Order: sequence, then structure tokens, then C-alpha cells
Amino acid sequence: MKKRNTVLVLGIISIVILISVQVFIIRGIWKQKDEMFALRYTMRSQEALNFIRRSMSTDGFDTVRILLGNYSEKANRELHAIKDGKELNARKKDILAYFTKVVNQEQDFSDLLSSYFKMRGLENKFNSTIVVNDIEMINNDTIVVYRSDGFLNRRPTDRGRRILSSEISGSRIFVNWFGMEDNNYRFRFDYWIDFSDKQKVILKESAAYLAMSGLSIIVVLILFMTTYRNLMEEKRLSDLKTDFINNMTHELKTPLSTITVAGKTLEMEQIRHNEAKILETAKLIGKQSIHLNQLINLILEISMWERTQFQLDKKNVKVDELMNEIVESFRSGYGNNVSIIQKYDLDGAKADLDVVYFTTMINNLLSNAVKYSDKDPEIYIEGFRDEEHIYIRVSDNGIGISKVDQKHIFDKFYRVSTGNIHKIKGLGLGLYYVKRIAESHGGEVNIDSKPGKGSIFTITLPF
Ligand code: ATP
Ligand code: MG
Repeated sequence: MKKRNTVLVLGIISIVILISVQVFIIRGIWKQKDEMFALRYTMRSQEALNFIRRSMSTDGFDTVRILLGNYSEKANRELHAIKDGKELNARKKDILAYFTKVVNQEQDFSDLLSSYFKMRGLENKFNSTIVVNDIEMINNDTIVVYRSDGFLNRRPTDRGRRILSSEISGSRIFVNWFGMEDNNYRFRFDYWIDFSDKQKVILKESAAYLAMSGLSIIVVLILFMTTYRNLMEEKRLSDLKTDFINNMTHELKTPLSTITVAGKTLEMEQIRHNEAKILETAKLIGKQSIHLNQLINLILEISMWERTQFQLDKKNVKVDELMNEIVESFRSGYGNNVSIIQKYDLDGAKADLDVVYFTTMINNLLSNAVKYSDKDPEIYIEGFRDEEHIYIRVSDNGIGISKVDQKHIFDKFYRVSTGNIHKIKGLGLGLYYVKRIAESHGGEVNIDSKPGKGSIFTITLPF
């Protein structure tokens, strides 16, 4: 029990550690791939930018330039004429809104960038974000319409080649900053992109590792589960063996103590002259010795059966006749309080059977039907057939067997634990024999039972 729990706990701990380590490594790999992705596309967009500059007659913001030029001439004049501070602020807000709208809606840069990525066989599904940094209206003096905090904090030298590491590691990728101006205005903004399919791309890149790590976890889990199950099975078998040895000892002790007592009796003075008594005691000793011998043979037989198949001595016999004989001799062994009803529908069918083993098989079923009963036993025996098989069915009104126990009752040494194991004597071998004998005849045995209702054992044998 203790050993089993230790194994279970250790197993679970090591599996948890394994999974955590894998998760830790995968997260590291993911982060690395994420950074590589950002770096790659930062470099690619610089390439794209150079390409666009060199080979196109536009930077993608021509329309924006025209619209803002037209707009700012009038806007500039009006702004400078305003005296009221409140009105001035409202006006600035309008201008910012217009600039933002135009630069977002009227630019071709995103299309150019996308075409470049496509041309190079790169991922080209991205969202662009334009961050306005600075808008100024210029007359004789300059009115700052808008200036972002980030722009103020940046050093002038940063502005040309600002690829800050913090900008790379974020999910957005910085492409470039742009500036445009004429006599009326000055306008600066940043252009960022982020990829909606980024996770998918990274997933694809890490797929091999993910699969391998998943596989290793599964393999370890399977290994652990098989080992644990084997351990449990071993434990179950060893428990069964212990039970068997206890039962066997008990079984052996009974005849042995009878013989011992009988021996002592024979030593007694008054018995020695009573011939009838001596004969009776000698018979008792003989009977018990035979019983003891049978028990020992049984044990020897089991170990032999383990190693070899049965040596069957088959004869072609009429099954219903044989059944009648077996049942009659079984009935004579028990009193009148056992009711056995037989019904055969076999058309005098003959089968190749080893009569001795077959008899043992039926006797085991019958003795169980009597043994595991809490009222006067009523046993119903049926025989019927189809084209290829003979069926022998033994039903009783006994205590029945639960579904869980049904799985094991044909196992060697298995007995249903009903608290006091010695209340009904047995070694847990009867049904094991039944199964082995049925199978060695090329057939099988099945159980159908409900606790409290009774049990039905069906033996199927081929013709
Ligand atoms: P043995 O037959 O070797 O003397 P046993 O009767 O205990 O010992 P099996 O005949 O193999 O062993 O039966 C295994 C267990 O199945 C029994 O201990 C009993 O609990 C249960 N069992 C078998 N037949 C019946 C039945 N007809 N009704 C209820 N329980 C049964
Ligand atoms: Mg039995």
C-alpha cells in the first residue's frame, strides 16, 4: 500500500515537473520567435522603404500632401486671426482631426508596403497605425496645433533612425517617421504596422518542437500508466495468492486435525478392544487421507495446467444423457432441499467431450449454485443448440455477483470477499477450472448475474 502510494506520488510529481519544464521552454521559444519576427519585419520594412524611395516616383503620401496644402492655406490664415483662447483651442482640435483623417484615409503607403511584402513572398496581412507627432501652422510666427508627449521626449538625433529596442519587442513594428511641410504648415507622424497572422506564423515555426514535446509527454504518461497498472496487477495477484494460501491452509488443516484426533483415539485403552470402533476410526482416517490427497493433487494440477494445455481424452457422447448422469449423481450427494430442474432441447446431439473434465466443470457450477445461496437452492439447467454450438445453461436463485466481481471470478484464486472469507469454504479455483475446461474444448463460459437475484452461467461448446 505504502509502496504503491509512493510510486503514484513520485510519478505524478515527475510528470508535473516534466510538463512545467516543457511549458517553460516553449514559452521561451515563443518569446524568441516573437522577437525574431518583429526584428525580421523591421528590417524588411526598412528594405521596403528604401525600395519605394528608389524605384517609385512617390512616397505614398502625394494625395495627402495636396489635400493638406489646400486645406492649410485657409486654416492657417483663420487660426492666426483668432484672438479668443477657447475658440483657438477648438480650432486646433478641428485641424488635428482633419490631418489625422486625411493621413489615415488618403495615403497609398500601406498598399505599396503590402505589394512589396507580397513581392518578396512575405506575410502581407497587416494593420497600420499612424501616430501623429507634431502639427504646426506657420505664418510670421508658429502656432503649435498639436505635439505628442513622445515626440517632445525624443532627442532630435533619434528622429531619423528611431528603431528603439522597446519598439521592436512590442507587438507593433515601427516602420518609419514621415514629415511634410510647405509655407503654411509642418506635419510629422510615425507609421507602425502589426500582423494579424503573427501568432499563426510563429505557431507554424514552432510546430515541430510543440509536437515533439507533446509526444514526449504522452510517451512518459503512457509509460507511467503501464508501469502503475502492472504494479497494481501484481499487487492484486499477490493478494489473491495470500488469500489462497490462507484458504488452503484452512482446508488442509481440517482433514489433518481429524486424522490426528483419530490417531489419538486409537491409542486409547477402551477403544483398542472395540473392533467396530477401530474399523470406524480407520475408515475415517482413510476418508480424510483421500480428501487430503485430493487437495494436494489439486494444487499440483494447477501448477501443471499453467505450463501445459490439458490432455483431453475425448469421446463422442450424447450430451443430454451425460448431463442426466452428472445431475443425478450430484443430486444424490445433496439432500432433498436442493431442487434441480432439467430441460434439454438437444435432439440427442453428440459432442466430442472429455467426460471426466466435463463432469468436473458441471459439478463446479452446481456446487457453486448450492454454496452461494441464502435460501433453499433452486437450480434450473437448460440445454439447447444451434447449427454449430451446444449451450448448457445453469441458473440459480442465489446471492448473485456484482458487475465488478464478474470481471474476476474466472481468475485463479479469486473469491468474492464477503467479509468473513471462511464462512463458505472454497479455494477460488472452481470457476477457473470451468473456464479452462470450456476453452480447452474450444468453447467458452459466460456469466449473467444480478446481486440478490441469482446467477446464470452459460457454457458454449462447438459440435
Ligand atoms: P472452489 O470452487 O475452488 O472451492 P470458490 O467456490 O470460492 O472455491 P469459484 O467457484 O471459482 O471459487 O468461485 C469464485 C467466486 O465466485 C466465489 O468465491 C463466489 O463468491 C462467486 N460465485 C461463484 N459462483 C457463484 C454463484 N452461483 N452465485 C454467487 N456467487 C458465485
Ligand atoms: Mg466453487
